[in-house]
Amino acid sequence: MIVVMKPGATPEQIHHMLQRVRDMGLSPHMIQGTERTVIACVGDERMKTPEQLAVGSGVDKVIPVLARYKIASREVKAEPTVIDLGLGSLGGTRVGIIAGPCTVENRKMIIETARAVKEAGAIGLRGGAFKPRTDPYTFQGLAEEGLEMLAEARAATGLAVVTEVMSCSQVDLVARYADCLQIGARNMQNFNLLAAVGEVDKPVLLKRGMSADFEEFLLAAEYILSRGNKRVMLCERGIRTFEQHTRFSLPVAIVPALKQATHLPVLCDPSHGTGRADLVEPVSRACIAAGADGLIIEVHPNPEEALVDGAQSIDIDAFRRLVASCRKVAEAVGRSL
Ligand code: PEP
Ligand code: MN
Repeated sequence: MIVVMKPGATPEQIHHMLQRVRDMGLSPHMIQGTERTVIACVGDERMKTPEQLAVGSGVDKVIPVLARYKIASREVKAEPTVIDLGLGSLGGTRVGIIAGPCTVENRKMIIETARAVKEAGAIGLRGGAFKPRTDPYTFQGLAEEGLEMLAEARAATGLAVVTEVMSCSQVDLVARYADCLQIGARNMQNFNLLAAVGEVDKPVLLKRGMSADFEEFLLAAEYILSRGNKRVMLCERGIRTFEQHTRFSLPVAIVPALKQATHLPVLCDPSHGTGRADLVEPVSRACIAAGADGLIIEVHPNPEEALVDGAQSIDIDAFRRLVASCRKVAEAVGRSL
């Protein structure tokens, strides 16, 4: 349930209600809107009576939240969450693009790519230093050395560094270098990892598991939010279906459905979603037309030589064209890029 405070409720009244919620054995999460404060009460609500809270001074009303995800829900927070990142933000009227190689390969390529994607209009730089590879005999990433190169690329460009963290034991290390922690599709239901990044004061980009449904995706976000980290972005990266002409199937319909259900920014990853460089630009346009707040795109200076995911990586010129055409679509749907 949520406790909706009256417009003008005093800080004392709000603090009193936070304590009342704790006394009931629930954890309160305060959400400060532009007009009023809302307290989401999270925990096992069985046997808890809303009347006990409704009589509190400064309380307007107590409303049950129907969705299983609470803090992520639009019912709890109607205004969109806007997350500042690098040279822009995600979740507001501007659409933001994060771009870069699948993996950091060497210092020269990451800095060259960072400069080029910044020039083309990206706000963040992607690149994995820890890579979740299906085949244990393939390149696994440069680990801390890769993180150092990403930090150098940030220093050279101002782009935010978005990079994956694969396990709880890597969280402190990755958080020291990254501006945004990526949780990969294969870890979307690694609940210990979700809880661990929920304790970090950095935005999290949560990718949808390739076999996870809509509600499981939002409940994974709820794990992070319920630990206190409110800066969570959702990323649709394609799911497994019977279809074989693309690497995964990217369901564009999830974008407006998520935007209805949650206030969190919604991004799309047409690179993994299609697995095909020739489809990345048109699918990017579709995602923005459907209301995506941002994109994460694999860009490589020479995709033919990419160590990982070359087939879905676009080169710098193609990225420039992608930004130009996505900008037109963004403008057509009342946004900017
Ligand atoms: C990636 O972004 O390179 C990646 C491995 O993504 P996903 O977790 O969506 O497969
Ligand atoms: Mn990749």
